[in-house]
Amino acid sequence: MQNKYRLMSPGPTPIPPEVSAAGALPIIHHRTPEFGEVFTRVNENLKRVFLTENDIFTYAASGTGSFEGALQNLFSPGDRVLVVNNGNFGGRWVKMSRAFGLEVTELTYEWGQKADNDEVAEALAADPQIKGAICVLSETSTGTVNDIRGFAKATENVLTIVDAVSGLGACELRTDEWGVDVVVAGSQKALMTPPGLGFVSVSERAWRAHEEARLPRYYFDWTAARKAYRKDPPQTPWTPAVSVIIQLDLALQQILEEGLENVLERHVLLGRAARAGVKGMGLRLFGPDEDMNTAVTAAWVPEGIDGKQLVRMVFREHGIQVAGGQGPMEGKIFRIGHCGYFDAYDIIATVAAIELALESLGHPVELGKGVGAAQRVFSKSGVAA
Ligand code: PLP
Repeated sequence: MQNKYRLMSPGPTPIPPEVSAAGALPIIHHRTPEFGEVFTRVNENLKRVFLTENDIFTYAASGTGSFEGALQNLFSPGDRVLVVNNGNFGGRWVKMSRAFGLEVTELTYEWGQKADNDEVAEALAADPQIKGAICVLSETSTGTVNDIRGFAKATENVLTIVDAVSGLGACELRTDEWGVDVVVAGSQKALMTPPGLGFVSVSERAWRAHEEARLPRYYFDWTAARKAYRKDPPQTPWTPAVSVIIQLDLALQQILEEGLENVLERHVLLGRAARAGVKGMGLRLFGPDEDMNTAVTAAWVPEGIDGKQLVRMVFREHGIQVAGGQGPMEGKIFRIGHCGYFDAYDIIATVAAIELALESLGHPVELGKGVGAAQRVFSKSGVAA
């Protein structure tokens, strides 16, 4: 049987049909009032999703590019930073910081565990030279969401830098209320937009650090971005990804129409249902079974099953693209993405397909047990009633 294609990865993620169609609109020139109008609206709406009054810059880059730009704009060679590493992306920021000549204090946790903010505070107290602290909101490689409210409190005397690439729009993040100086995000996850844009928000304190920062910077120079944005009409210093920005404009409007708090609540349900489905089919969750984990659900592949084969089979036989494990977890876990344009039936279908694939691979599974458990989450809430 020919199945529909369903993208259930934690990025890139599926996009609404209207957002897809907007990508086919004629290209408009980026130094015109027409583009300026779109770009201004996008910027204002991004602030409503980041929950900030800070400047936000949009780059033709992925999240990693915007993160690289943040380091260049904030620090000088030899500056000390603390980085929480509890997964693939925390690990990336350790490597990147070192690549730029920063002195890194690395707080390492086992994959799947959350950062301990008391330890963060202790590490900062032990080294008053540390200028900035970095943590991932939703560690996409494991599904674990760190407590950023607590992190921001523990790091209130230094620059607080948060990677919200898969978290923004799926997990609670109150940039200004919690005092997060720099938030990095990308278009291709909960913002329901194709890959291609990277974002960064910059607090007053981050601007002050920027004035002193001596790492070389050019493409990602925040001063250049702010100068271009203050032009009439507002612009970017270099050619922006015009079509993706037009798509983002629609996606942000959809998010705000649904209401950010409702969007976050929907993600709580999606996460709960995915975890219930995984447990219902008799598998073990990877990482904490907590409502905070709204963006990605990771589970252990059962003993005797090849994880890569499972992911491949779910796709080839059922048309559903879930993700495998990254780095040391390759083949050992699989991940169901649910940050962005997802509903109850995406989760139910995915759980159903995993049950079928496990059965085909010879794993004892009682069909429908995971599905039923996922359904019950939605039925309790009334979403699928
Ligand atoms: N940080 C997190 C938490 C991510 O999930 C990702 C991408 O999956 C990145 C950073 C890297 O972003 P990009 O692939 O957009 O460069």
